[in-house]
Amino acid sequence: MIKIKKIAVLTSGGDAPGMNAAIRAVVRTGIYNGIEVYGVNMGYSGLLEGNIKKMELSSVADIIHRGGTILGTARSDEFETKAGQQKAKNILKDIGIEGLVVIGGDGSFRGLLELAKLGIKVIGIPATIDNDMGYTDFTIGFMTAAETVADAISKLRDTSSAHGRANVVEVMGRDCGDIALYSGLAGGAETIFVPEVNVDYKDFIEKAMQGKRRGKRHHIIVVAEGSANTFELCKMLEEETGIETRVTVLGHVQRGGTPTVFDRIWASRMGYVAVNSLMVGDSGFALGIRCNELVKTEIEKAVNIKKIFNKEILEIAEILSI
Ligand code: ATP
Repeated sequence: MIKIKKIAVLTSGGDAPGMNAAIRAVVRTGIYNGIEVYGVNMGYSGLLEGNIKKMELSSVADIIHRGGTILGTARSDEFETKAGQQKAKNILKDIGIEGLVVIGGDGSFRGLLELAKLGIKVIGIPATIDNDMGYTDFTIGFMTAAETVADAISKLRDTSSAHGRANVVEVMGRDCGDIALYSGLAGGAETIFVPEVNVDYKDFIEKAMQGKRRGKRHHIIVVAEGSANTFELCKMLEEETGIETRVTVLGHVQRGGTPTVFDRIWASRMGYVAVNSLMVGDSGFALGIRCNELVKTEIEKAVNIKKIFNKEILEIAEILSI
């Protein structure tokens, strides 16, 4: 056990439900162990402005169930420069902060790696709704976003069945289709479009026609934003099948909301392990989930592990929605 006196925590990149639970765990675990914990407001951008405050037990009261992040988040171009990273290191050193926990996505981890190279002890907690980090099975916030979308699909199903319409639902996911994949299976979608798999328009129309022939009164198509043009899909479906179709673009509603139990539990466990890791002198690790175990992967390795798309889930969704 090494004596570490001051650590800091920040959230970076896109906000994700569960970030607050992770902040709470870092602050409370630190204070429990006699460590001063500082909160950096507004990500790396706030770090470069010295926007840092000491956190107390009460600073994180009543936040475990809240979406967003009480520390705020931002993106910073300055931090991507060597000069910016050196400035950030100096600001941390001036306050006497020896360890930094960053809660964020892939880009945030790349930034964290640069700080590690400058001698700051660092630990990363994966938090992004996209679930686009290859070294971990899940990122904090993803399950909540998938739950939000599945809930929206269930609601759209009601009205879809009532009118005998099709509904095309556009969800987040420019490069990673996991939100569409998981919410699509959970919501019983007939077709799921993801950026990882080429769109087969012929199959799509044929499946809709089959449904129409056997009298299906609802038809849900979930489209990850990076996979196809949602409005063109809608037009094509109406023209080729004669099924009246509506488009719903869910947008930023997917980022908010109270985190699911899954996200709160993993955020709490990771926040706890992050501080304990710094206390035993571990640094440069990204925390993750592999087969329901909490694992530590070197950040340098973690950011280079390619995310593998789970084709089996897509096949299951297709078979179950015939
Ligand atoms: P999300 O997946 O939600 O978008 P993210 O962490 O990947 O989250 P980014 O915008 O990619 O979000 O990164 C957040 C911040 O991390 C950037 O604004 C920048 O300051 C820093 N950052 C990103 N990439 C690098 C890099 N290669 N080197 C140094 N800093 C970086």
